[in-house]
Amino acid sequence: MERFSLEGKTALVTGGSRGIGFAVARAFIEAGARVVIAARNEGQLAEAAAALGVNCIGLRCDVSDPGDIARLVARAWELGPLDVLVNNAGISPYYKRAELVSVEEFDAVVRVNLRGSYFASVEVARRMFEAGRGGSIINVSSVAGIMPLERQGVYAATKAGLHQLTKVMALEWAERGVRVNAIAPGWVETDLVDELFASRHGERLRADIPLGRLATPDDVAGAAVWLASDAASYVTGSVVVIDGGRQLR
Ligand code: NAP
Repeated sequence: MERFSLEGKTALVTGGSRGIGFAVARAFIEAGARVVIAARNEGQLAEAAAALGVNCIGLRCDVSDPGDIARLVARAWELGPLDVLVNNAGISPYYKRAELVSVEEFDAVVRVNLRGSYFASVEVARRMFEAGRGGSIINVSSVAGIMPLERQGVYAATKAGLHQLTKVMALEWAERGVRVNAIAPGWVETDLVDELFASRHGERLRADIPLGRLATPDDVAGAAVWLASDAASYVTGSVVVIDGGRQLR
């Protein structure tokens, strides 16, 4: 359907070099978009961009550094005004109880997951306002931002924060045509959770998913295409949950 097409649109996907971000970038390109992917590891970024073909370029960026984000957005914009930003870059570097988390660990997660998404949104939205062209911002959050999951305290707080940012920015930017939504996945088969699912906790976590399996990155990408497209032109401030029913338990 034409309203689901991304023909003529340009998107920036942070963390697009693997996992969910890569699947989103691929789905965007399949829907007709041009895509800029960003991540820190330049080798992996170049490989991913090459795999995605002529409608993709990779630009290095560490979203924990607001200066890096500003440079990324400026460079991406030089290639053409952005219509879509996907704040997907995120980390979950440990799985431990709250009393065991250090100040440094706490800050590292907040800097990437929450602060990175915040300033990427602001950088892109300001340019969208100036260009008077509106756009779609999509935050990749998590069901951990909706329901309490043990040993995920800091991560969960960043994702819950992302939900509130989604709503506030959606409210503030609606009249200028910038829609802001979130996608909250449950467990997805990526490097991020490989180790966890290989551990003794893995079986228990899997057993808690009503649909009986982890999501694939492609299970998440379809919602991103919809939210980026004109088919979602009346959708803003929403959190789309893709969790195999996990939050029902
Ligand atoms: P992943 O496979 O580990 O991929 C993470 C991506 O983010 C990579 O491209 C990585 O590239 C990039 N990245 C990490 N830190 C970065 C930084 N400081 N600056 C720029 N890029 C950075 O993870 P994933 O599972 O696809 O996760 C993607 C998003 O989905 C995250 O926000 C995550 O919280 C969320 N999510 C995942 C799951 C899950 O079960 N997998 C569930 C719910 C939500 P570099 O390392 O090269 O920078």
